[in-house]
Amino acid sequence: MSTLAPKVDLLGLSRDELVAFLQELGQPSYRATQILSWLRRGVSFQEMTNLPGELRARLAEVATVGSLMLCSHQEAPDGTVKFGYQTSDGHSVESVLIPHHNRTTICVSSQVGCAFGCTFCATGQDGLTRDLAAGEIVEQVVRVQQVAAPRRIRNVVFMGMGEPLANYEAVVKAVRLLNSREGMGIGARHIAISTCGLPDAIRRLAGEGLQVGLAISLHAGTNEVRDQIVPLNRRHPVDEVMAAARFFFEKAGRKVALQYVIVPGLNDTQRQAEKLAEFTRGLPSMVNVVPRNPLEEIGAADAAPARRFAGLLRRRGMEAVVRRSRGSEVLGACGQLRPRQGQQKPGESAPARPTNL
Ligand code: SF4
Repeated sequence: MSTLAPKVDLLGLSRDELVAFLQELGQPSYRATQILSWLRRGVSFQEMTNLPGELRARLAEVATVGSLMLCSHQEAPDGTVKFGYQTSDGHSVESVLIPHHNRTTICVSSQVGCAFGCTFCATGQDGLTRDLAAGEIVEQVVRVQQVAAPRRIRNVVFMGMGEPLANYEAVVKAVRLLNSREGMGIGARHIAISTCGLPDAIRRLAGEGLQVGLAISLHAGTNEVRDQIVPLNRRHPVDEVMAAARFFFEKAGRKVALQYVIVPGLNDTQRQAEKLAEFTRGLPSMVNVVPRNPLEEIGAADAAPARRFAGLLRRRGMEAVVRRSRGSEVLGACGQLRPRQGQQKPGESAPARPTNL
């Protein structure tokens, strides 16, 4: 193995891949068990004290534990913390820690930017730069867990930057790594993947045998209105997306979450509520009604239209809750994450732990 080859990020390897990698270094497979127990803590090779010094030195030459530089963290008054990272090729990515009583959730990014351009979302305004690798997704959880301790991250939602199902392979791999007992040990039922509606990928996900939750960014009850909020709807209209959602429920047996960001005056009308109730009839689902956050403005959105619309849905027999939008004071709330070139200064307000090892 040449030392000039790009270093391998061990956070993105499955156990089998790690065993194969170590075999190339002439190491027995039990070393994989030792290394895995360190990886979930995100420590450097030097800190892997049960490995021989020679192996630690060799690993430092050919591999890394992660590749992201944690550049900033900003805490909102409600306890939500937004983390900014720089990738090894200089892009910025964000994830958000959301503490809630006895539950701690992280919202992770799956892409740098996004190709889908939903109108309420800052991430999609500049298009897609690139997919994140599985290791870069897992690393967001590892790094934030270091900062969050002693709280334990138990929930992961793929609702940060990017369309997770457009980066399918890496996202499913990251889910398996996060779920693995030797990895982060996060229950699959505590992992949710959000999509703006890619029917083929939803069907494929249903067949993975994972117990993950599915959230569909719906935001309208009719194609006419959804076309104006989610451009992808012109390619995959509501009935196609909902047919895939029904397939997911039948196969995975999990209630589907429907995300509904309120755009006052457009998608919060009686007609939208009626149509939504109509096409979700018989599908076990829950509508999360979210007040729309300003794209680049600090401050919480007005929750009144969301409360009113949730009431319209409940009167039609639907399960609907208003999700309090958290983290808007640090532009970390729903729809506010975006690549912020030039705004993050490595080292500034960074947690003590160095990251690029
Ligand atoms: S809501 Fe999701 S799919 Fe739509 S632009 Fe934003 S990141 Fe992309």
